[in-house]
Amino acid sequence: MFTPPFCPNRSCPQHTSPGVRFFARHGHYRSKCRPHPVPRFYCKTCRRGFSRQTFRADYRDHRPHLNAALFLLIASGVGIRQSSRTLKLSRRCTELKLRKLGRHARRLNLNLRRRLEGPTARFHLDEFETYEVERNTRPLSVPVLIESVTRYIVWAEAAPIRARGRMSKKRRAAIERADRLHGPRKDTSRRSLERTLARGSDLAKTASAVVLSSDEKSSYPGLAKRAFDGRKLIHRKTNSRVVRDTRNPLFAINHEEAIMRDLMGRVRRDSWLVSKKRRYLDHGLQIHMAYRNLVRRRFNRDVASPAQLLGFVPRRLTPQECLSWRQDHGMRSISPLSSRGNARVSLEGARPTAHTHASQFRNLGGGGGRT
Ligand SMILES: [Zn+2]
Repeated sequence: MFTPPFCPNRSCPQHTSPGVRFFARHGHYRSKCRPHPVPRFYCKTCRRGFSRQTFRADYRDHRPHLNAALFLLIASGVGIRQSSRTLKLSRRCTELKLRKLGRHARRLNLNLRRRLEGPTARFHLDEFETYEVERNTRPLSVPVLIESVTRYIVWAEAAPIRARGRMSKKRRAAIERADRLHGPRKDTSRRSLERTLARGSDLAKTASAVVLSSDEKSSYPGLAKRAFDGRKLIHRKTNSRVVRDTRNPLFAINHEEAIMRDLMGRVRRDSWLVSKKRRYLDHGLQIHMAYRNLVRRRFNRDVASPAQLLGFVPRRLTPQECLSWRQDHGMRSISPLSSRGNARVSLEGARPTAHTHASQFRNLGGGGGRT
């Protein structure tokens, strides 16, 4: 039976430090889209009512049974319009669902990460280019950082960059037109790279050495040095002209980017399916990360997912589990692996020692700690 872990009212004292019986049961209700009655409660302190549904990721959703299907379609390279045709949803409704799924996936990705174990952390870094609306005038750069062995995607996000490369008269005119329309294009790729490396740095907080593999882009060494400050940094640089086969030292990230391009229609080259808005690409990236890290096996011959190989979760998640409990309460959120809702996300993948337990509750950004 479901027992509420805390009061969902954020301004109530029972939200942060709930007492043993802070709530009272208050009957149930039936909804058209769920076969079982949904239990209701009220908080004895703030007297507010809530239900099991208040803790679910599909809280207040229309047609919640389509969420997992949309998650899988988006994670399989299908675009918003084709998904809406397949699911018989309106385009706007699909967009809103995608936005909610993307935000949820972002929180899930952050909540289900722990510090990497072992003295040496290994990462591969690269950036790939795509664009919003128009390739000629509005390119985007997407930095991607992965854990080298398990292929766990640590972070990826889209940043606008200025158009560059060969400039014809026509192209220059198109750029001027776009600038007039949207304002001069900013380049935030450096900031994006810093954020991406900082996510890696956070995972490798307790490592003594970091091995970073990347190409020879001149800005990487300085950024990496700052990001992994305090740890011994071994930066392995490979020339981009080296043949991109399985023996290439950057094979892991090249391969992962190829999978990304394949599974995210919107970053495919020469595709009709283009991001019309950058933030939908970010939502798509977060959904891809959740799918790649938590649902999919690392390689087809493996049984484990990347997050499982790193010990972040005890097993692979189903898409339904990924979209089960709300994750907007940080490490206090209910674990997606807990069907009854009685385990917190902070304890997933944790080794059962007092030290780990305490440190995880303190670190909202992904505690864990080596034991
Ligand atoms: Zn309350």
